[in-house]
Amino acid sequence: MTTLIKHMNEDFEMYLRDESRTVGYAENIAFPVTTDEIKEIMKACYADGEKVTVQGGRTGIAAAAVPYGGCILNLSKMNRVLGMRKDENGYYLTVQPGVVLSELRKMIASNNFSMKDWNEESKEVWAEFKKDGAWFFSPDPTETSATIGGMVNCNASGARSFLYGPTRNHVTSVTMVLADGRVITAKRGSNQRATGHTAVFTCDDGSLLEAPIPTYKMPPTKNASGYFAAENMELIDLLIGSDGTLGVVSEIELALLPQPKVIWGTSLLFEDEQSSLQFVDRVRHSVEGIASMEFFDSGALDVLRAQKAKSRAFSALPEIKDFVNTVIYVELHCDDKEQAMERLRGVADVFEAVGGNLEHSWVAMSSKDIERLMFFRHAVPESVNMLIDERKKMDKRIGKVGSDMSVPDEHLFEVVDLYRTTLAEQKLQTATWGHVGNNHLHVNVLPNNMEEHARAKELFKSWAKGICPMGGAVSAEHGVGKLKAPFLTIMYGEDHIEEMRTLKRAFDPKWMLGVGNLFNQQ
Ligand SMILES: Cc1cc2nc3c(=O)[nH]c(=O)nc-3n(C[C@H](O)[C@H](O)[C@H](O)COP(=O)(O)OP(=O)(O)OC[C@H]3O[C@@H](n4cnc5c(N)ncnc54)[C@H](O)[C@@H]3O)c2cc1C
Repeated sequence: MTTLIKHMNEDFEMYLRDESRTVGYAENIAFPVTTDEIKEIMKACYADGEKVTVQGGRTGIAAAAVPYGGCILNLSKMNRVLGMRKDENGYYLTVQPGVVLSELRKMIASNNFSMKDWNEESKEVWAEFKKDGAWFFSPDPTETSATIGGMVNCNASGARSFLYGPTRNHVTSVTMVLADGRVITAKRGSNQRATGHTAVFTCDDGSLLEAPIPTYKMPPTKNASGYFAAENMELIDLLIGSDGTLGVVSEIELALLPQPKVIWGTSLLFEDEQSSLQFVDRVRHSVEGIASMEFFDSGALDVLRAQKAKSRAFSALPEIKDFVNTVIYVELHCDDKEQAMERLRGVADVFEAVGGNLEHSWVAMSSKDIERLMFFRHAVPESVNMLIDERKKMDKRIGKVGSDMSVPDEHLFEVVDLYRTTLAEQKLQTATWGHVGNNHLHVNVLPNNMEEHARAKELFKSWAKGICPMGGAVSAEHGVGKLKAPFLTIMYGEDHIEEMRTLKRAFDPKWMLGVGNLFNQQ
């Protein structure tokens, strides 16, 4: 035992849950501040075979950070930025996993943080960085209290992932403490690759960790479902998106991108859903520089209209007239205003070609106007949460049931048809929004009672079965965690789940980490 591990008491109760509102249980908890402390804790837990559930910001909505017994390893105090380097492609920041996304953004934009652990080289690079225009870290899960460690483990995305890709694409080094306390580091662009389907890592004590990579083919779509697996893959990709099941990520290097010089946005108001989908289908391949394409359906707009009428918090929202059935927000990232104007014209042409009326659009050309459109985007889930809070007064077990599935481009119409047909049969209230550019919609069922709640869950299971033959993914960005584990079996089948178990055992022979996430032990 180590003094870094404390017994649970009521002061720590909040750590038994995450944003999924699932409540778990644990006997112990620890808040390490360095990689060495994580090693000490893991060695102590390994000696006793104690389960360990790693936590970042607990903003996950798949219950992945909810403990099912053993020790909670909460990394929120590992929130330091450790250094910076530069190469011919740009700048890279090394951070501890508990750095919160909103803090990272503030830090990149300012000089206001501690560099006490930085070496001279890092400080010099930072000075150069501050003179070298504006840079940013592109992954943007809406919830900015997420930590970088959590984002890496879920391979989080967000609206702008349409252009820039998920977190995976912006991580260049991962250091991971294994269940037994050994440490591995995997870097992108190095020669650390699998040989065929075998991964070999060299640990800090010189020993080797050999792991068989599963043989399934990953879906050709946005995906955060289970382990990344491919022949001769870069080893770092095995660690990213592993949902807290292979080890504790203790250090991460992030690649920054040059900030686009001009950002414009437009919200397009459609009278019917089909023409909004036709718009998406045409515009995504005909206009360059689209960073995000977000969708809000009639159910979501109805909830927003109702909450706007009731709550002063939403009084600043523009009026959403009755004829508006669907809203699509398009954000353009451009080099200059001329390019932005040309691209905006391209978006407008497609809008008109599918029957849209340019008078039914809101254009934002300044950061203040963009913020106003963002307020609209954030108000949608918030208004739904307010509605659910009202329903909870009748039965506190009621919660929204949300999907996170994606399909390849050619199946956009088919998947929306699947959702609409089955929802109409079930007569459930829904509000749908999300990243339509990636055919990735969050369909949220808003149950009135637990019977509807149960029906929604069954419906989602049938959707998981429906999207897999389309080449879809059961989780596109939230990760599988505990709540979507049955869907992962639907997606890959029991044989491939067994391959994942074998991989996990190579990393975690005592089956201690992230118990209940992805699949059961069997
Ligand atoms: C309102 C709202 C909107 C959201 N929108 C989006 C969105 O647009 N896109 C999106 O991708 N997600 C979204 N999310 C989900 C969530 O914010 C992301 O999944 C985020 O990546 C979780 O980060 P976290 O730090 O909170 O992780 P946690 O919830 O604490 O943990 C998530 C998983 O990561 C593991 N983990 C965390 N840190 C480590 C570590 N250092 N080492 C090993 N394992 C670790 C945990 O064990 C768990 O398996 C949203 C959530 C909310 C509440």
